Amino acid sequence: MNQIRAQLELPFASPTPQPVVACSAVLEGHPVSYVLHRSHGRRRISLSIDERGLRIGAPLRASMREIEAVLRDHARWVMRKLEQWTAKRVPGRRWESGETLMYLGAPLQLAIATGPENVLHHESALHISAQRPQTENIAALARAWLRTQALADFARRVERFRVSMAVTPGDIRLSNARSRWGSCHASGRILLNWRLIQMPARLIDYVVVHELAHLREMNHSPRFWSVVAREIPDHAARRREIRRDAHRYIVE
Ligand SMILES: [Zn+2]
Repeated sequence: MNQIRAQLELPFASPTPQPVVACSAVLEGHPVSYVLHRSHGRRRISLSIDERGLRIGAPLRASMREIEAVLRDHARWVMRKLEQWTAKRVPGRRWESGETLMYLGAPLQLAIATGPENVLHHESALHISAQRPQTENIAALARAWLRTQALADFARRVERFRVSMAVTPGDIRLSNARSRWGSCHASGRILLNWRLIQMPARLIDYVVVHELAHLREMNHSPRFWSVVAREIPDHAARRREIRRDAHRYIVE
């Protein structure tokens, strides 16, 4: 079957170069955040990794395409160094009381207890109880809860935009992709990454509208963007925001 997949790419080219900007890209299927330093004096694109993470130096007018090409050429080196850096820096989520999860753009504080298996969202807390509240049980319960919320939330948004955009989506499914927020198939099926539920509502709306717009235009042509813009006039800003903050939401 001819399956056209239209994906929401994370890379985003900023029209006006700024001297220092936080960026992210997908390398070997993994989201990678870096700080881009542009300067007049610089003649070549250079990569460095220190205690602050990945930094890229570039001439003022270097395009994002050129910068990302250099990044891809050195993908293996970058991934290896970043792994070493991450291992040192991020202790990883321990799924303990007091830690926070993001839900619709706001932090939810975990409150873990021993008891019958249950997950309860109350105000800004997520109470999780399990007979054996070990890390993996709590993580599985929290993820299952997020996925349940995600499916219900995304279905409501699709329903809302479907009418105003005059499109007929097929089934809505959750995806678990590490480098893609959503995709739309020629069959009408729409896949949305469950991790989106961590983002503020306005960003989820953008991804939903983006994928629904593919039911009208299976490409990223000016016509596609005008379909998106009718629902989300500031789509470029939202897309930039997703790109800037992607690393916060990929971590589960
Ligand atoms: Zn797209």
